[in-house]
Amino acid sequence: MSSPCCSVLANHLPHRVFLPDTARYNATEASYWSTQEAVLSPSCIVQPESSSDVSKFISVVTSITNCDFAIKSQGHAPAAGFANINDGVTLDITTLNATTISDDHSIASVGTGSAWTEVYRTLNPYNKTVAGGRNGAVGVGGLTIGGGISYYSPQVGFTCDTAVNFEVVLASSEIINANATSHLDLYRALKGGGNNFGVVTRIDFSTLETVPLFAGHLFNPANHTEDVLRAFANIAAAHDYDVHASIVTSLSFNSTTKTWSIINVPQYTLPNPNPPVYKELSSIPNITSLTSFEIQNISTLSAEPPYPQKHELFHTSTYAAPSNTSASTLLTEIFHYLNTSLSNAHPSYSPPDISWTLSLEPLPTAFTSHSHKDSILGLNTSENALITLFTGSWTNATLSNAANDLGRKLWRGMDQLAEARGLLRGFRYYNYADVSQDVLASYGGRTWGS
Ligand SMILES: Cc1cc2nc3c(=O)[nH]c(=O)nc-3n(C[C@H](O)[C@H](O)[C@H](O)COP(=O)(O)OP(=O)(O)OC[C@H]3O[C@@H](n4cnc5c(N)ncnc54)[C@H](O)[C@@H]3O)c2cc1C
Repeated sequence: MSSPCCSVLANHLPHRVFLPDTARYNATEASYWSTQEAVLSPSCIVQPESSSDVSKFISVVTSITNCDFAIKSQGHAPAAGFANINDGVTLDITTLNATTISDDHSIASVGTGSAWTEVYRTLNPYNKTVAGGRNGAVGVGGLTIGGGISYYSPQVGFTCDTAVNFEVVLASSEIINANATSHLDLYRALKGGGNNFGVVTRIDFSTLETVPLFAGHLFNPANHTEDVLRAFANIAAAHDYDVHASIVTSLSFNSTTKTWSIINVPQYTLPNPNPPVYKELSSIPNITSLTSFEIQNISTLSAEPPYPQKHELFHTSTYAAPSNTSASTLLTEIFHYLNTSLSNAHPSYSPPDISWTLSLEPLPTAFTSHSHKDSILGLNTSENALITLFTGSWTNATLSNAANDLGRKLWRGMDQLAEARGLLRGFRYYNYADVSQDVLASYGGRTWGS
């Protein structure tokens, strides 16, 4: 074995330690969403069967000098090193994937290595669900401890706001439960604090009644970009935000054709085939061959569409949406800035292989009001806002430096436009952030009103 950590771990956890070029090791490596995570090579991968295995793991790695390790759930965080490691040990908790429901069906207890779709499928026969990831292949562990935006967020807040208990293995290897009456500080810190506080092995969530949902995919021609941004701003800035509405509007730039495409993914958490909140958006001319509106259940809706592994870059910002006109003016300005910058970018900085996407999601007060007391996020609940996710994707590793440089430059340019209009807010959403963004410093409301 190449690392002393792996030999000692194999003694303490027989049959749970997997070396390079074994089937289990290779399957974990292949399961990462981004290429830059998948190409890292740990000396071994450990798959625990229980919290007590995780406790044994922690007591071994903390007793050996330089036994670095990474924690992996479903591997959807894009940045290299978030959930994988070169030379150290990767703790792959996807084996902790059980979901059970309490006798009165009000609490679902979920292993943090589970993918959301497995959770939804298990709870479906009870007519219950939880406010988890929209994409079912994402992991319960990473999404929840980074916050978690679900279709139900305007009703119940971030996914972490619906967690009533975390079972955690601490650095001391003790297994504890953090909740409103025990280890309250840790309970609050895990709601957005990420993997800094221990290995979370199980989360107990409050459940919701399931009803079929309205699910739309609405593609618009690029010459209607400003109309779409106006319709999105009207939804995001509404004082009487409809708590059943959850939408992602994305503008994607194709570096080969230098053209834009628009996709809106509007959802409604009731089986209403024609919710008024989407009336303006659905009246904009759309590409009918691609557009669909369906009523679906959450398990079907959460199926991840096939997506090839690529190099990926995420950046996020938060902008205030105090009125529909100010939000729509800013978004239009940002679109023109991106269009000019990307269309004129030197080919070495935006080669054809790279695609760029700006996604917009409402962050109304209805949503943030659930986060105020119980988590460390400290969000301002007095104004509607929106979250941006700016992404780059490419296949050729030699483009990574140029793509990262350009992505960060464009993100700063967008923030400067928001700042000039007084709409830039400090909050950086953990699960969408780049390594260059100081997420934890953005918590607690200190920079929200700036
Ligand atoms: C296709 C796609 C769709 C997405 N959809 C959504 C969405 O609908 N809503 C949303 O809010 N976000 C979404 N995200 C972002 C997503 O929440 C983050 O990427 C999240 O970190 C992924 O969690 P994971 O467990 O799959 O990832 P991993 O890469 O396995 O883990 C992410 C981070 O969490 C840590 N971690 C994971 N489990 C534990 C644990 N049990 N204990 C301690 N630390 C742990 C890891 O060390 C790592 O740093 C999406 C991302 C992608 C790529």
